[in-house]
Amino acid sequence: MSAGMEQVHLSLDKVHRLATSALGNQGASADQARAVADNVTGAERDGCTSHGLFRIPGYAASLASGKVTGDAVPTVHDLAPGVVKVDGQNGFAALTNEVGRDPLIDKARSQGIAVLATTNNYHFAAVWPEVEAICEQGLVAMAFVSSKSFVAPAGGTKPLYGTNPMAFGWPREGHPPVVFDQASSASARGEIQIHQRDGIPIPEGWGIDPEGNPTTDPDEILAGAQLPFGGYKGSGIAMMVELMAGALIGDVFSFEATANDVPDGGPSKGGECIIAIDPSRCVEGAAGQLAHAEGLFREILSQPGTRLPADRRYAARERIPAEGIHIPAALYDTLIELGGG
Ligand code: NDP
Repeated sequence: MSAGMEQVHLSLDKVHRLATSALGNQGASADQARAVADNVTGAERDGCTSHGLFRIPGYAASLASGKVTGDAVPTVHDLAPGVVKVDGQNGFAALTNEVGRDPLIDKARSQGIAVLATTNNYHFAAVWPEVEAICEQGLVAMAFVSSKSFVAPAGGTKPLYGTNPMAFGWPREGHPPVVFDQASSASARGEIQIHQRDGIPIPEGWGIDPEGNPTTDPDEILAGAQLPFGGYKGSGIAMMVELMAGALIGDVFSFEATANDVPDGGPSKGGECIIAIDPSRCVEGAAGQLAHAEGLFREILSQPGTRLPADRRYAARERIPAEGIHIPAALYDTLIELGGG
């Protein structure tokens, strides 16, 4: 199969098989490979291409380089009535998050609010999957993940912060949760890499060249620095993410992850902080908060041009399982070379 703009059509089952077998062939255990494949397939199912199969070569590179421990088995540590830690043992975050989910939910139900601190793991996925899974259990959730130094702090010109996503989710009755999941940079890095791959200029305001000048050239930005969204406001969120996913839970900042990283094209090592809140424990007597929230959502949607965060994903989720997806032939060839089948 040739490269270029040629596309290959895949069912979601095939996406999962390709991901699982490619990662297994590169040394991931069945649990590690399945957890990442679930995450990547969920991204493709929801139309989140930049966190779909596109990421598998990076995950595979980190197995091949020995940076990630392919057969890591995460360990659970009960730190406090409202705090559980899961040490990823140098494996991928997808499995670490899965292992920590039930202990976090149990603690949130018993204490009203709880923290899951995951450390010593490798994350370069979207953050909505962990938040959405908690909201599906009727809880409010937030998550914070740092990465590597890609983003200049407001006013600066050198990369310091990661693209540092945070996600927030609110449970709904009879609907999937409302979830926003956003980088604190003006764009996710994967979007810039996809523009680079496809030779398309990027929008103004996403980044600066190595001399600090604004540019729309993806190569220049990847060599220079990304910018936070909204100037100093996004910069403040990026700093909060560093503190929540780094100092608070005893893991690294993005600049420390960069210094320690093996630059193999895969994820960097770090932590993730996930907070779950049980709405029924936040009021006295009859609750009704979820019904109250529906009033806000109705008001938002009564204005033409609005939508709720995550509704784009949920619309894709209605369509893509039946239609399947298309990926570039060059990516498909790479997955086959990695042992995908
Ligand atoms: P986007 O800017 O595309 O979207 C951010 C959020 O805003 C989404 O929840 C999106 O919902 C919502 N949204 C978009 N448009 C509207 C609208 N018109 N009205 C209401 N809501 C809207 O995401 P980013 O580029 O910032 O991030 C992309 C992904 O990259 C995220 O999943 C993030 O977690 C991930 N990422 C991961 C990193 C890592 O190191 N692990 C680093 C950086 C980013 P919807 O999904 O429905 O469009």
